[in-house]
Amino acid sequence: MRVRSEAGGRVVLDELEIGEIAVELDLEEPEEVIAWGLETFDERVAVVTGMQAEGMVVLDMAARIRPDVRAVTVDTGRLPPATIAFVDEVRARYPRVRLEVLRPDPAEVEAMVRRQGPDLFRASVPSRLLCCHVRKVRPLVRALRGLDAWFTGLRREQWASRAAIKKVELDHDHGGIVKVNALADWTKEEVWDYLRERNVPVHPLYRLGYTSIGCDPCTRPVAPGEDDRAGRWWWERGAPKECGIHCPIETGGFEHEAEAILREAHGGSGGRP
Ligand code: SF4
Repeated sequence: MRVRSEAGGRVVLDELEIGEIAVELDLEEPEEVIAWGLETFDERVAVVTGMQAEGMVVLDMAARIRPDVRAVTVDTGRLPPATIAFVDEVRARYPRVRLEVLRPDPAEVEAMVRRQGPDLFRASVPSRLLCCHVRKVRPLVRALRGLDAWFTGLRREQWASRAAIKKVELDHDHGGIVKVNALADWTKEEVWDYLRERNVPVHPLYRLGYTSIGCDPCTRPVAPGEDDRAGRWWWERGAPKECGIHCPIETGGFEHEAEAILREAHGGSGGRP
């Protein structure tokens, strides 16, 4: 497979190149896709995970190939205690994985809370998107700036906004780096079969009926027959079950308020992510 290297060790692919590679990898097993990502991007790729089932599959596969693979997660400051404890369990299981826990900018959180209160996400969809933007998306965007590629646990069948993802694609929302969705064509059953067969650590909240796990106040277990992501921001109607890192939510209506918060947090400079 062809790749183009730029000076400074960065690996940059264009649309034509990534299109050809996507076709070649589309029928490959996830391990092959991840191996390609590790070989191609080396130190400039990381597993980005919220410690959910899919992310743990990707992390396990990557760590089997490269035990000291880089990994990134975000502590939004509103995570369930079980998630914090689970991060420690994952570290113990994969001691060589270089797991970095990102946190939001305290000044930005403070400005947001001062303007809208700590539980602004209940007020409206734009306020919820604003909270996700400050607490989760911006820390991740900062991390992605230092990468040429990232591994995700996205699957096509998870949500309508994910139905067309490819196993490898350019991420135009994050500087054109490569997004590696190795599990794109996997089913939920395949994910759980893998976790069981490999005895991979599983977030304890799954045992309590959760099917998608995010921040404590914004996640609940689902009832039988409900969509797997129905427990995320369950009080909202018609809004995407996304935080904004995997799909741009430009019509969220929170941008103006976000700019004001960043000005307040950074003394008028606005502040880059
Ligand atoms: S999931 Fe809820 S608490 Fe967490 S960042 Fe988004 S809105 Fe805020």
